[in-house]
Amino acid sequence: MRTTRATAVAILVCAVMVALGSTPGAAGQPPIEEPVPIDGAGVSGPPAVLAQRTQPPGRTFTIAAVGDWLSEGLVNTAAAAAAPPGVRYDHEPLLRPLTSILSNVDLAICHMEIPVGLPGAKAGFIGRGVYGTALIAAPYEVAGDLKRVGFDRCSTASNHSNDLGNGGIDSTLNAFDAAGISHTGTARTPAEATPVPFTVNGVRVAHLSFARNSNTGFPLDEWRLERAVTATNVVGDVAAARAVGAEVVIVSLHVYVEMQKGPTAEDRALVNQIVAQSHPDLIVIHGPHVVQPVERVGDTLVYWSLGNFISGMGVPGRDKYSDLRTLDGLMATVRFTEQPDGSWLTEPWTVLLCNVTGSRAVYPGVSALFDPAITGTLRTKLEACFNRSIQVVADLR
Ligand SMILES: [Zn+2]
Repeated sequence: MRTTRATAVAILVCAVMVALGSTPGAAGQPPIEEPVPIDGAGVSGPPAVLAQRTQPPGRTFTIAAVGDWLSEGLVNTAAAAAAPPGVRYDHEPLLRPLTSILSNVDLAICHMEIPVGLPGAKAGFIGRGVYGTALIAAPYEVAGDLKRVGFDRCSTASNHSNDLGNGGIDSTLNAFDAAGISHTGTARTPAEATPVPFTVNGVRVAHLSFARNSNTGFPLDEWRLERAVTATNVVGDVAAARAVGAEVVIVSLHVYVEMQKGPTAEDRALVNQIVAQSHPDLIVIHGPHVVQPVERVGDTLVYWSLGNFISGMGVPGRDKYSDLRTLDGLMATVRFTEQPDGSWLTEPWTVLLCNVTGSRAVYPGVSALFDPAITGTLRTKLEACFNRSIQVVADLR
């Protein structure tokens, strides 16, 4: 039916009036109202329309999750140069541009791809593993520095988690405990491998972390490193977390195919299976070292790759890791809001992160570009970071 604008408006007015329970009056006259008793006599209850207004506002909280932390040579050199006298490494100056964002979220999550060493232990390249891969360690100072800039929690399951064996798993978690950063993905005892929800803004949240492979083979004790070789372990742990009261479940997943523009068919199949069988609310993926798209798989928000947070990559002489895309990352900033049916709405607000060469500082790329005080050199680097990333994720903040 062809409808003119005037008839469409008339239909709309009638529809609104019917909805409001009144009838249109004669032309030019106000509508005739039914008399409403003021003493309640004859009223059997409040109008049905009020029922939805009795719902309190849904509970809500925000999280921010960032990409891979790699204490490679250039990062350690920059952190040593930034350290005050008597301190080996200080990463806070490298991350300072992010403190205002991190202080505005309820839960800030990092991803430690490599073991954190004992106090005073050597950091960076440690040697070669049994299969020829680089063994890398983060300096002990990292944990305290992450806490100082606002991180609350870190995922630790990756292909490098077992680089230094059980001792490296233990020293990593001991460093985080000493700094007051909670953690998930690796464990010192079988009990520590059990999912335990925690409270964020009054909401019971579980955050789990899994690795698809290990460069040095998986530890003999399965509970030492959470694995996602198939979906089974992830699905079981998400269900276990729900069973002990988790209202929201966040999964960090470390995959092994690097440098791809988007998820592999195999990773997509794994995530499809995890979502279909356990419905986590959010999945953030690590490992590709470049950013990949943000999508929904069913109702689950999926960051296919957060890229690197900080690394020594993106410079000449590092083979595939010389790729400039390794300088770019995403901060998955997500608001969770409880819905009347008990589900949780996830709204992404994706912050572009740029790990610039030279200083190795990490900037929120978009907002930093609006800072008139930045140098021309930094502006050029940030623009390049933005131009690369906007081709992958259209909605960058
Ligand atoms: Zn990795």
